[in-house]
Amino acid sequence: MRCLYCGKKKTKESLTSFFLEEDPLCVDCRKQMGSQRKTIEVKGMKIETFYEYDSLYKSLLIQYKECYDEALKDVFLYGIVDYINLRYHGYHLALVPSSIQKRKERGFDHLELMCEKIKLKRVKGLRMKTELIQEGKNAEQRREMEDNYIYEGEDLGKVLLFDDVVTTGSSLMGTFWAIKGKTAKIKVLSLAYKSKGLHN
Ligand SMILES: [Zn+2]
Repeated sequence: MRCLYCGKKKTKESLTSFFLEEDPLCVDCRKQMGSQRKTIEVKGMKIETFYEYDSLYKSLLIQYKECYDEALKDVFLYGIVDYINLRYHGYHLALVPSSIQKRKERGFDHLELMCEKIKLKRVKGLRMKTELIQEGKNAEQRREMEDNYIYEGEDLGKVLLFDDVVTTGSSLMGTFWAIKGKTAKIKVLSLAYKSKGLHN
């Protein structure tokens, strides 16, 4: 089997890993991903994260999201999915909604596909109000972004709010406030964080 990213033949080491499932990446690429669980704080929200965005994670995410490389779907949560299933047992999973336009272009919902193996019940009824694109926003536009999510579903118990990367925190914040009134407890997890761009 070859590494999904660099194409090198995988060594024995990656085939007999601690996890039952085979890593889609080779040992070297996995090392470059450098997964390390930590909690950061953005706009008063405590966010659990695993990767620094400016690493191999970024290249993989761009290839997956912007080059529509669906095959990479299991790369991001490899080694983390079991932890999430255990740690957040009994929680609902709320994925930060992406724009309909982007979903159409990709032909898949990138977060849903990425989270396929997470066994938590999905939150339904969460969406963007208007088709705002999230990148390159000034302060004013970020505030609009925070107000651009709506939840029209049933009352929820505990919720795990999930995104692939946090930069300014606007979309996570917006989603957080959209569901807050209908939840008992919310935990926030963003697989990666971008250190530049935070706190402004
Ligand atoms: Zn590789």
